[in-house]
Amino acid sequence: MIHDWKMELYWRLPVVLQEVALSVYGWRLNRLYYGGEFPAALQAVRRRVWRSREEIESWQMEQLRRILVSAVQYVPHYRERYRGVDIPNLRSRDDLSVLPLLDRQELRQHEESFLDERLDPRRLFKDKTSGSTGTSVTIFWPPRCLQWLQAVLEVRVRYVAGVSQSMPRAVLGGRPIVRGMRSRPPFWRRNWYWKQLYLSSYHVSASTARGYVAAIRRSKATWLTGYGSAIAALADSAMLAGVSPLKMKAVVVSGDTLQPGMRWSIERFFDCKCYDMYGQVEAVALGMECRAGRMHLMPDAGIVEIMDRDGSPCAPGTTGEVVATGLLNDGMPLIRYRTGDSAALAREQDCSCGSSHPIIESLEGRVDDYLVTRDGRQIGRLSTAMKRSPTIHSAQIVQDKPGHAYLLIRPGDGYLPRDSKPVVDDVIERIGAFDLDVREVAEIPKTPTGKTRLVVRLSERPDLWAAYSPVIERATPVTEVGEVR
Ligand SMILES: [Zn+2]
Repeated sequence: MIHDWKMELYWRLPVVLQEVALSVYGWRLNRLYYGGEFPAALQAVRRRVWRSREEIESWQMEQLRRILVSAVQYVPHYRERYRGVDIPNLRSRDDLSVLPLLDRQELRQHEESFLDERLDPRRLFKDKTSGSTGTSVTIFWPPRCLQWLQAVLEVRVRYVAGVSQSMPRAVLGGRPIVRGMRSRPPFWRRNWYWKQLYLSSYHVSASTARGYVAAIRRSKATWLTGYGSAIAALADSAMLAGVSPLKMKAVVVSGDTLQPGMRWSIERFFDCKCYDMYGQVEAVALGMECRAGRMHLMPDAGIVEIMDRDGSPCAPGTTGEVVATGLLNDGMPLIRYRTGDSAALAREQDCSCGSSHPIIESLEGRVDDYLVTRDGRQIGRLSTAMKRSPTIHSAQIVQDKPGHAYLLIRPGDGYLPRDSKPVVDDVIERIGAFDLDVREVAEIPKTPTGKTRLVVRLSERPDLWAAYSPVIERATPVTEVGEVR
């Protein structure tokens, strides 16, 4: 991970030297990711793809026992917490329920006690979760485990989308490769070593879109990855500016919630399928949409449980929190780790793509995407409400005080102001007494990492006031709840 002083140094370089720096960084990562055990791991993961459900489950149990046995022996946190638990007797995944849940806060406070004590932390690769201010966690990876992770991503993500690591790629994500204050292009940088073009997600607009598309064309990129919201914003801006479509082999999005209007824009402008990928820096629960459009979990990454608020398992079809036990990183094992994401196991687990891996759905936000009522209750699971009107491109709820919020709506094709009513009604129905003011916006503001969220509570994010105040304090006609303008 690039540290702040390195970032400052990087920003001071001329563009050509920035590209040299990125290419050297790419060369170093390349040895780390694709050296060592990578070739063998790639073969092993490929062999696992068409295994039956039973074969995969027994393989997972074997991995789980290996991780647990080593964790209680060599990882201080688990040696302490699991005292008295009969690890060798854990026979099935249901037996996992005897182990306590682990949350991000606990991990953050004692990061190093989660490391295998036989490892030297200085020799491990460090990756930080983005998280909102103050909740970021450092994940340590032994190089060998990173190589297995890359093999899983190559087979389970890139091959599924019909592409591979070696194909030139454009990346539109949260990397601050160009200073935010920069007002003139180029808003992109090359990593020659990896044949990758990194584009800033912060500078996309109708006036810069033509330049972005031309840069991607010149780079010969055949596929595109990044945040769905950022890629959709580029597609929309380009279409608005009358730029002709740019054909890609595939677009793979991750990192924020892909709303239906975003997918539509991406598939239309880039003239290919848009695949939604699910994951986190901890890489304990990974999922990838298949050609049939269903999200399959990658069993190599971890064992996933869906839990309700009381910590009991949710039945298929019922949304709960994704809790996962990672099988890739045995240097920093995360066991029954609460990811903070909400999802449901699909009721129908058979898929026409032929894969037998578990299917999840309703993966449309995080458990902390909730609103606070006047009497202090927290109401979540609002993502379905926000999909009520097909003419809404994307939407977000911004809460400024208990009992009151703004519903920001970015209109899509054919949108009429009355289309916001079903969304408002649905939210009110879930919450009860609550005031929701509708604001139409040209764009949904992003968090500092470039992602968009379904719900933003400004009381917890004072840093975001500046981005939201022009939108919510604007003196445009206010649509009262239930009233059609
Ligand atoms: Zn499938």
